[in-house]
Amino acid sequence: MRVHHLNCGTMRLPGARLVCHVLAVETGGGLLLVDTGFGTADIAEPARRTGAMRRVVRPAFDPRETALHQIRELGFRAEDVTHIVATHFDLDHIGGLADFPEAQVHVTAAEARGALSPATLLERGRYRRTQLSHRPRLVRHEPTGERWRGFAAARQLTSVDDGVVLVSMPGHTRGHAAVAVDAGGYWVLHCGDTFYHPGTLDGTPVPWSLRVQERLVAHDIRELRSSQARVAALRAAGTEELMVVCSHDPALFEAARARAATGGR
Ligand SMILES: [Zn+2]
Repeated sequence: MRVHHLNCGTMRLPGARLVCHVLAVETGGGLLLVDTGFGTADIAEPARRTGAMRRVVRPAFDPRETALHQIRELGFRAEDVTHIVATHFDLDHIGGLADFPEAQVHVTAAEARGALSPATLLERGRYRRTQLSHRPRLVRHEPTGERWRGFAAARQLTSVDDGVVLVSMPGHTRGHAAVAVDAGGYWVLHCGDTFYHPGTLDGTPVPWSLRVQERLVAHDIRELRSSQARVAALRAAGTEELMVVCSHDPALFEAARARAATGGR
């Protein structure tokens, strides 16, 4: 499948510029988005939609960065987006859902529970009802049983495409997942917020602001560390046919874009 890499939200923390890495995947059954970044509603009403979070990560709120704008630039219409797979329901990942109200929104059942019935102080703070007030067409998945490259729980999303796998990767949120996409000749593993910076996986320096943020918003830090260790092992194995990316690192985003532009070589 042809995969486009879009930055749907530039953010800033001290010493770090962040992107919102979104995949737009051309499947046989329409366009699939993996996460959405910020959407037009966030830009129209930043205070109501994003709350105090916008003061911490200072999103650019640039209309040209929305997934809606960028897929139109690629020649698609909003209605062409038939499926969206969300790594999790933090607002910087689902702000654009309301721009594609007809799309089916795939998520783990655990993540939907966390967002719709928040059980902890952290969950009550991070999930904002306004992001889901348009009542998206949620499709809940229980990724259990199937194994995927060392991960115990995964689910092939056959209703989307055979080349799309939801991989349970909890820790950042209770139902956080990664999404693996067959890009034709290689796979892209989008790890969402399992890590913010490649240094978390390979031991190179990570800006302090990212280390602090990671701890502050972790639903379960031990689960997160265990997920990170598994991704690190996968990445260290260094196979050409697997490209590991995350939501917010600009260098991994640019590398993914460059590889897609050369047809995956
Ligand atoms: Zn995030």
